[in-house]
Amino acid sequence: MVAKKTVALRCGSLFDSRGEALRKNVIIIVENEKIKEITTTAPSGAEVIDLSHETCLPGLIDTHTHILLQGDITAADYDQQLLKQSPEYRTILATVNARRALEYGFTSIRDLETEGAGYADADVKKAINNGIIPGPRMQVATRALDVTGAYPLQGYAPNVPVPHGVQVVDGPDNARQAVREQISHGADWIKVYSDRSYWVRDDGVLDDIPTFTLDELRAIVDEAHRERHKVASHAMALKGVHNSVEAGVDTIEHGNYIADEDLKTMAARGVFYVPTIFVGDYVAQGRAAEGAQVWVKMVQIHEDTFRRAMKAGVKIAFGTDAGGFDWKVDPAKEFAWMVKFGMTPAQAIRAATATASELLGQQNSVGTIEPGKLADIVAVPGDPLADVTLMEKVDFVMKGGMIVRRP
Ligand SMILES: [Zn+2]
Repeated sequence: MVAKKTVALRCGSLFDSRGEALRKNVIIIVENEKIKEITTTAPSGAEVIDLSHETCLPGLIDTHTHILLQGDITAADYDQQLLKQSPEYRTILATVNARRALEYGFTSIRDLETEGAGYADADVKKAINNGIIPGPRMQVATRALDVTGAYPLQGYAPNVPVPHGVQVVDGPDNARQAVREQISHGADWIKVYSDRSYWVRDDGVLDDIPTFTLDELRAIVDEAHRERHKVASHAMALKGVHNSVEAGVDTIEHGNYIADEDLKTMAARGVFYVPTIFVGDYVAQGRAAEGAQVWVKMVQIHEDTFRRAMKAGVKIAFGTDAGGFDWKVDPAKEFAWMVKFGMTPAQAIRAATATASELLGQQNSVGTIEPGKLADIVAVPGDPLADVTLMEKVDFVMKGGMIVRRP
């Protein structure tokens, strides 16, 4: 039995994510890896960490990352990573990204597929859990699924075999087998790509080509749920979202356009919406320069959808697609976009803490600051409810009672 270690965090303010208000002059007592008490006086003998000029918050949760990616604005960026970098080299880079995520204040992430790097995410997660390398708590999706002809690498001569960023499957039985395979190799989530090839119709609706048939999607969801795993669906437009919701997926990723009737179903069934706004703007300019103007319009359509989703009462969880943009860029830039699209700073922070923990099924251990939960705590210098861009200035990070970073 190791002796109990008690640390007292003296916080100028506390946003515990249980409500939407700040509390002033609070002391958080941390005993070993857990929060023991929220109080106003430090117990004698405790190590006191002075955060009296800071606001303490629950550790942040990014529910959509790619630690095996280093940014892919253009097709060439992506192809280069799959063709010129070995999975082993990419895994080394991923360990650096995992550390970056933690230092930005993300104490938990859901990593939504390795983009051609096999099961490397499951190994990074294992190395973090075994204390070999620093990084956030991870849920991983491993290889993801898409159909023939839908996912890069694309456009090479038919006689040239190239790798794909996903496991390619066709037909309900093969899809079911792939789900079993991925789960057996460590997938926490099954990720599907439900649509591709986006275009804006005359009536302003963002349309798409659905990848899987409804039968295929249903088989994937059924098999994952049967094995008590959840399904995340990349669905950016009308049909991809509709089929995903019909098939019973658990989270909709990106969702640039979602029809009102699908928002209604999502709200009723508790399907989470992970909008990933910032990345859309980040890649739009580069992709427009390559001739794909649709990506610029998609950002505007996204704002309208986000506002309708809020009104419909859909659960919105914070997710960024980090890795789709360079990990040297702080994913916390997403907060300012959520506020720009209509959330209050408090709502955006709750989306990245309390709501995100619910998406992960970890609401009993992380996501809020309260006694009994894991001591995943971050701090920012000032009041993030007055200026949400302070979330990009996290300067204190504690994960499970261990201090990762201090001001
Ligand atoms: Zn993604």
